[in-house]
Amino acid sequence: MDMALTEQQRASQQAFRQWVETHVEPVADEHDSAQRTPQSMIDAMAAEGYLGALIDSEYGGGSMDAVSWGLLCEEFGRGSASLLSLLTVHGMVLQSIAKWGTEAQKANWLPKLASGAAVGAFGLTEPNVGSDAKSIESVAVEQADGSFLLNAEKRWISFGDSANLILIIAKVDDKPAAFLVQSNMAGFSREPITGMLGFRAANIAKLVMKDVVVPAENLLGRVGFGFSHIANTALDHGRYCVGWGCVGLAQAALDASMAYAGERRQFGEALNKHQLIQQLLADMVVDIKAARMLNYHAAYLKDIGEPSLIMETSMAKYFASRVAVKATDSAVQIHGANGCSSDYPVQRFYRDAKIMEIIEGSNQMQQIIIAKSGYQQHLVAKRAARRAKQPQE
Ligand SMILES: Cc1cc2nc3c(=O)[nH]c(=O)nc-3n(C[C@H](O)[C@H](O)[C@H](O)COP(=O)(O)OP(=O)(O)OC[C@H]3O[C@@H](n4cnc5c(N)ncnc54)[C@H](O)[C@@H]3O)c2cc1C
Repeated sequence: MDMALTEQQRASQQAFRQWVETHVEPVADEHDSAQRTPQSMIDAMAAEGYLGALIDSEYGGGSMDAVSWGLLCEEFGRGSASLLSLLTVHGMVLQSIAKWGTEAQKANWLPKLASGAAVGAFGLTEPNVGSDAKSIESVAVEQADGSFLLNAEKRWISFGDSANLILIIAKVDDKPAAFLVQSNMAGFSREPITGMLGFRAANIAKLVMKDVVVPAENLLGRVGFGFSHIANTALDHGRYCVGWGCVGLAQAALDASMAYAGERRQFGEALNKHQLIQQLLADMVVDIKAARMLNYHAAYLKDIGEPSLIMETSMAKYFASRVAVKATDSAVQIHGANGCSSDYPVQRFYRDAKIMEIIEGSNQMQQIIIAKSGYQQHLVAKRAARRAKQPQE
């Protein structure tokens, strides 16, 4: 596996970093305390080509490779976890359409998602259903003319208060289905959710769909494909973005800690001369490196289309989110009382990091699937060893 970035990827990484440093970092705390990302920021990200980066150029996108996309998520994770979540959920919608949409759906929606004329969000979670997603209570009933009558309530929807195209998972005759719901459809309403621990500028909303008539052409994939095909595609993409974003978030915590520990003096010397602080910094450096490597590995598998990618992405998200929580915790510790104050961004990093362990399949859900997959691999290896021991004919 070649871990070196191409010249193009290195140049893109520099450009992403510069854009985030110039446009995101100066306003991230302000948006966090206002609990709002303004539309102007969404427009700026669209104008820069970030919202459409993954879309094929034939639909007006940037045809970006998986490694470059990972680097973009890393830089946004470093600047603002809330904006990382825009890249994530918008990408979940466009990836699902690109993979499972009809030609007509792709031709209609992908250019709009690329330009930012359509902003996507992903609606799976409900008031009574989170991890146990297959138990969703939202329902759609097929009408005589082929349209669907949708009744749904979705909660904690990132950028649900800004999106105009929401991928909603609901059941039709008890079978899961995915619908492209437009915010201007009659019966659609939303309420912003504020007061969150982290992702405070992610324009989170509760969405209600009451007798919304969804035309047949807005069904994505077939009835029955809602989880196995559509939601899984979306969530796999979501985990990929979050894994990379966590590396950026942890890196931001490390950068802030290095700067602070070099300047702040206690007991007559800089904090970074104290060995217990060095221990915190050393763990951050090594953990972040390991998390970055896992994400590179997932990116490499994605670019070559290797099926084990899904499990590797889960592992990368699981590990990187834990690293982000640990690194941001250390960053607050190193900053002492300053770390608890809004004068320093590490308190935001700390709050945002915790969210990473809950979204796109909580870390307990990741542990369950990683352990299952590990056991399968163990059985395969055992069978292969037994076969190897059998005498040859
Ligand atoms: C900031 C934020 C943004 C979000 N954005 C979106 C979005 O855009 N779209 C969307 O659809 N959802 C979104 N969510 C919801 C998120 O996906 C859910 O919170 C997540 O799936 C967990 O569901 P839950 O909160 O209902 O927790 P629950 O499922 O009720 O679980 C509670 C706790 O129990 C654990 N648990 C559950 N079952 C088991 C088990 N079998 N074994 C061990 N432990 C278990 C969980 O890991 C968790 O720690 C967002 C959430 C947050 C906080």
